[in-house]
Amino acid sequence: MIICPVCHSENDNYATVCSNCKGFLQNRIPNLDLFETVWGIVESPRATFHQVTLAEHKNYSVFLFTLFGISLSFTSFWYLRLGNRFDTLLELIVWALGVGVVTGLGLVLILPVSYHLSARAMGGKSGFRSSLGLLSYSLVPVVASLFFVLPVELLTFGMYLFTANPHPYTIKPVSYVALVSFDVGVSLWSFILAVLATSTGHQMSIIRAIVVVTLTMGALAGVFFFAPRVFRL
Ligand SMILES: [Zn+2]
Repeated sequence: MIICPVCHSENDNYATVCSNCKGFLQNRIPNLDLFETVWGIVESPRATFHQVTLAEHKNYSVFLFTLFGISLSFTSFWYLRLGNRFDTLLELIVWALGVGVVTGLGLVLILPVSYHLSARAMGGKSGFRSSLGLLSYSLVPVVASLFFVLPVELLTFGMYLFTANPHPYTIKPVSYVALVSFDVGVSLWSFILAVLATSTGHQMSIIRAIVVVTLTMGALAGVFFFAPRVFRL
């Protein structure tokens, strides 16, 4: 709730002018700058998710989802140990990138809808476009790991990152455990960000936000449980 400094009327957190006297409440935000927003999410997540909700255009949402899809694709190739199906690491990388882009574009159609419906069911106040922006910017840690963790994993293990025999753990156990822990940490960070984003953007309690994000993760897990069976991997 924002109290108007002029007439003292109560206004919605995301109103830019007072509903009663049209007095100024907060700046309009037409567009989101990618790097400024990404850095803001690291530094002060709640204030930044406020800006994401306020922004008229949720810039880079589809771009972030595409990169998220690529990250999930590499994780799936690792989890399903698909290494033996490719002759070279380069071939595997090209396939993982291709599958990733398709996955990301597919998820941007499914996941924000599922998230938005869960949020509204739990009393969320913002519109679909805000849900899309909030969810996509919560993915920033996972997306960043694509640029900072995946190259290290590929340089450390090469093709063995994706093979069952030998398993990467038997080659370099300490590096393997460290890198997998890092991936888990990054996912946890995105989960916490999504909870903060939901609580801020949809103006609901943390407990309700946890329920919304858990339901969304359930939808994502469902996609990843059924997709390999559909494609017979
Ligand atoms: Zn007013």
